Amino acid sequence: MKTIKCKFQNRIVQLCKPYPVELIDQLTNYQVPSIYLRPFKLGAGRHGYVCPLDSFLSNIRITKTCWLWTACCEFRGYGRIYFDSKPQKAHRVSWQLFKGKIPVHLHVLHTCDVRSCVNPAHLFLGTIQDNSDDMVAKDRSCFGLKNYNHKLDNKKIVRIRYLYSKGVSQSQLGRDFGITPSSVCRIVNRKIWKRV
Ligand SMILES: [Zn+2]
Repeated sequence: MKTIKCKFQNRIVQLCKPYPVELIDQLTNYQVPSIYLRPFKLGAGRHGYVCPLDSFLSNIRITKTCWLWTACCEFRGYGRIYFDSKPQKAHRVSWQLFKGKIPVHLHVLHTCDVRSCVNPAHLFLGTIQDNSDDMVAKDRSCFGLKNYNHKLDNKKIVRIRYLYSKGVSQSQLGRDFGITPSSVCRIVNRKIWKRV
């Protein structure tokens, strides 16, 4: 394998491919831990050395905004890559390469709403709750009107908020509308159904 010496973070890093200048420019915004810049030997049947950063970069195509994953994707559209001795979602690997460790209770979420995007600038850490709020805000969730089983519609949401403002308790509203008190809480606090 022919490697190209590339100046990156004031170090000379060997990368297999001549990546687009725009990509290398964007990379200089990040501090990649040195363990991910150290080449490792490829497995049986493949020859040469490649570093984890390199194997990651060789699978992306940059657009004006996103870095799209071009290698294998799982059925929901998230990229997959073998990293740190296990298969992982590509956007999570991006976070580890460019931003650091992912705390165990947190998820890596997209601001751009493109699942195959691995641009670290489009990623943020959040809880499962943040993820579902984000989905509702972006109208991607199975809650709300898209769900054929829905119990709520815009009229009912307005009604719930009105009744709550008049002093009806969340548990009473939950019983009246057939939803849980925590859903009522999230509705009246505009955590969900934000656009109504
Ligand atoms: Zn993106």
